[in-house]
Amino acid sequence: MMHRPQSAEDILRGLAICSPEEIDLEEIAFCQGAKVKYRELDGCEAYLLADATLGRAIISIDERANPLRQRFSLAHEIGHWERHRGQLLVCSKEDIGGSGSRKNGVSREKAANQFAAELLMPEFMLKPILRDYRRFNMHAVRQLASTFNTSKTAMAYRLVEMEKEPCILAAYSKSGYVWHISSKSIGHQWWPRRFLDPQSNAYSILFNGSRDDATMSDLDADTWFDVPGADRLEIGEQSFRVHDDLVMALLVARSERMLAD
Ligand SMILES: [Zn+2]
Repeated sequence: MMHRPQSAEDILRGLAICSPEEIDLEEIAFCQGAKVKYRELDGCEAYLLADATLGRAIISIDERANPLRQRFSLAHEIGHWERHRGQLLVCSKEDIGGSGSRKNGVSREKAANQFAAELLMPEFMLKPILRDYRRFNMHAVRQLASTFNTSKTAMAYRLVEMEKEPCILAAYSKSGYVWHISSKSIGHQWWPRRFLDPQSNAYSILFNGSRDDATMSDLDADTWFDVPGADRLEIGEQSFRVHDDLVMALLVARSERMLAD
């Protein structure tokens, strides 16, 4: 029988899963005909070995990765099994991700990452919970990441995409800009600077070992954007460290002038 790929939401609804703590990925994989194995893998983070005719697959996950990472990888492989049935897929660390790798890379990997985000952080569960948060900031991101058992970065990325408020999530290493994602409402010219400005909180966290921002601070938009008139606009910044050489900044627009026409 021909396999019809289902969306992550269809799968969840089909299994009557309606709250975050019910998103048991091994159970979901099992219901879709895939078994999950955890073991040490060489040269990749996860892979899918599939027999499309039988409708059976084995998903292998590197057991040395951190638990949140393993969870995202498993959701990613379920996405491949659903969307790219019949192919042997070996996924590297760069292929899998709830953040930068969702923008770059080949379309098959992007599709699996999008699927993973929709499976782990389904809009129909997130939206009602989001209404309880008056403002969008890292406090909300942290709590929601813990509720949905995802990384802060993956949750922040998802919420920027869902546009709770017009905002941008930007990643920087010590050598500069790595990637960013903007809500759709933000104008295209608002592209973050190539290098962190020493006035930014992200700079202090990355270079001076400062703590993650406990609250959102207000600063002039030209700290982050080389756009004419930015010095007269204010934005909110709340940044956090991912690891020694990666900092993430959540930037919230405070002026309509940052919105697309
Ligand atoms: Zn993949």
